[in-house]
Amino acid sequence: MILVTGAAGFIGANFVLDWLAQSDEPVINLDKLTYAGNLQSLASLQGDARHIFVHGDIGDRTLVDRLLAEHKPRAIVNFAAESHVDRSIHGPEDFIQTNVVGTFHLLESVRAYWGGLDEAAKASFRFLHVSTDEVYGTLKPTDPPFTEENTYEPNSPYSASKAASDHLVRAYHHTYGLPVLTTNCSNNYGPYHFPEKLIPLMIVNALAGKPLPVYGDGMQIRDWLFVKDHCSAIRRVLEAGTPGETYNVGGWNEKPNIEIVKTVCVLLDEMSPRADGKGYAEQITYVTDRPGHDRRYAIDATKIHRELGWKPAETFETGIRKTVRWYLDNQAWVQQVQSGEYRQWIDKQYGAK
Ligand code: NAD
Repeated sequence: MILVTGAAGFIGANFVLDWLAQSDEPVINLDKLTYAGNLQSLASLQGDARHIFVHGDIGDRTLVDRLLAEHKPRAIVNFAAESHVDRSIHGPEDFIQTNVVGTFHLLESVRAYWGGLDEAAKASFRFLHVSTDEVYGTLKPTDPPFTEENTYEPNSPYSASKAASDHLVRAYHHTYGLPVLTTNCSNNYGPYHFPEKLIPLMIVNALAGKPLPVYGDGMQIRDWLFVKDHCSAIRRVLEAGTPGETYNVGGWNEKPNIEIVKTVCVLLDEMSPRADGKGYAEQITYVTDRPGHDRRYAIDATKIHRELGWKPAETFETGIRKTVRWYLDNQAWVQQVQSGEYRQWIDKQYGAK
């Protein structure tokens, strides 16, 4: 049994689907179901006794203590977080509450639980904290990619809150001996990605005939990894990572945002052409840049490759094609998540349509 937090979100849902496709080890999914949590992503697991969903907050000590005592998980994978940089700029408080305070409470519950295990269970237990490359700050064009040795220089409330949680996780290993693992991954893309993030937003807006908003000059560079490759990296770190270590995870796919948007347009032109025969790139609209927008992130994933033998299965070209196809084939999911709170947020950002 493993406990996965935030598994109604984008990466967590992909992780649970992948996990249960490869193993019969049950999963408890603890998720608060914020606007980003969507059980529809796990609809294929309905009636599957290996997936136990619990609606709740990682910061709820009573609930987490009870779950740990009841289910005795051998590992915890912590995805639960507020994850959208733009939202963190407009309202940082939820980021501090969940990413910092929530992670702290979760660690306290886990520390107490772990301390009560017998020696063998204690030694094999793992707490894997899922984090981001954004904690390292921004790179100049000529800088080498981030390694695990880079200093933390977070620039947004989101990345600062994730950096704080990474530090807490590290401290629980050094201070209490908790067997923790941390992964710092680059930008993910793929199925079940909430359409406020770059790639799904572009696909959804393009198909709806809406503008494709690109920040500033569109030359912000990110490394992109297909979500299933992130999931395989997490599984690998969980089974073979050294407690106390951090592992950078990336796709060796550095691309400027504008190139990503144009690639999505070209794929849509091929798979679902506009009725008027024009290209989707016509809808690209440059908008005022995000304050403090980091120019470049790049990940050096040598350590996880060398020490644990992990490498991504998809190239950007194969992964983005699968992603566009998935969104075209899963319009019902898109419509379902585009209601309520999401709609209000998007309308506030880009004006009600
Ligand atoms: P997401 O926003 O899609 O999902 C987050 C999930 O956490 C949601 O289901 C939400 O309901 C849940 N949640 C939020 N607050 C909670 C709380 N207090 N208690 C319990 N559940 C709560 O995020 P994602 O993109 O799937 O990212 C998952 C993790 O991976 C995050 O920690 C993020 O920082 C990290 N990460 C994401 C990326 C990326 O590109 N998306 C890259 C690297 C790392």
